[in-house]
Amino acid sequence: MKKNLLGNTGIKVTEVGFGVLTVGKTQLNLSVEEGASVLRYALERGINFLDTAEYYETYPYIKKALKGTNFEPVIVSKSLGLSFSSMSKAIENARIALNRDYIDIFLLHEVRNDPDWDYRSGAWECLQEAKSKGLVKAIGVSTHHVDIVAKTSEIKEIDVLFPLINFRGLGIRKGIVFGTREEMEAEIKKAAAAGKGIFVMKVFGGGNLTGHYLEAIQYVRELEGITSMMIGFGHHHEIDRILEVMDGTIDPEYKPDLTLKRIRIDQGDCEGCGACIKRCPNHAIFRNKFGIAEVDHELCLTCGYCAPICPVRAIIMF
Ligand code: SF4
Ligand code: SF4
Repeated sequence: MKKNLLGNTGIKVTEVGFGVLTVGKTQLNLSVEEGASVLRYALERGINFLDTAEYYETYPYIKKALKGTNFEPVIVSKSLGLSFSSMSKAIENARIALNRDYIDIFLLHEVRNDPDWDYRSGAWECLQEAKSKGLVKAIGVSTHHVDIVAKTSEIKEIDVLFPLINFRGLGIRKGIVFGTREEMEAEIKKAAAAGKGIFVMKVFGGGNLTGHYLEAIQYVRELEGITSMMIGFGHHHEIDRILEVMDGTIDPEYKPDLTLKRIRIDQGDCEGCGACIKRCPNHAIFRNKFGIAEVDHELCLTCGYCAPICPVRAIIMF
């Protein structure tokens, strides 16, 4: 697969990366052997860019996939930690768990808005220090927020941005309201012009656009300023399909089989607004003891009605 330079980092990444969250316990919950097998297959087929996070608990899959191979993928990790010490611990944990002297890219995970950015100042200071010591090679933020992309693209120490975009604009936020696809497109373009390396997430809107597979990928491929898109794979054949898209050999009528899809609510993203509970015709969503929405899989018919109304795109079909 074609590789391109990621902004000014000097790091070359493939057009498609592997979002490792998918194989982990919060999504497909594959065994380490199964998940590592899918990851290794992606590496064998030429994908060189892996996205993980402290919160995903997916380091063992990557370690296992790389064991005994010569693959040296570009690894992105990130932490929700706010303080210097929590970020420092996150970097150290990643280096140990992945058996690496350095992590290629480390991010502030899911920066939500301006005060949130300010609360992360300790963690950001730590990332800058880690880079100066060679413990990480490039630093930046992941975010669903168009206003955070706008703000951080003006910060010279930021090397990379990992924003959310898809052809329906699902899940784009701007402060406490929704942002639009057009706004995110414009900010991505500006950030890329400022030299930031951009790779994007939620091309399929958390699984809600998977039925529009080719359209969703084509939209992102044609956007100005984007070097790579992270896609979550759970099966070998999904990797084959994406390679066919990239080399132009995919069946133009191709549609993925969605019959085995399940609904999951990301407990880290859910803000407990209750909109999905009201929307579900089958009373399959309830508030757990933390006030966060959860799905009762005995009742859920995977109709998907709840997902598009979630303001933070916390409802995922996988
Ligand atoms: S997919 Fe349908 S049945 Fe399942 S939780 Fe959502 S709205 Fe309810
Ligand atoms: S709509 Fe989204 S944020 Fe609101 S309770 Fe449901 S999952 Fe949580």
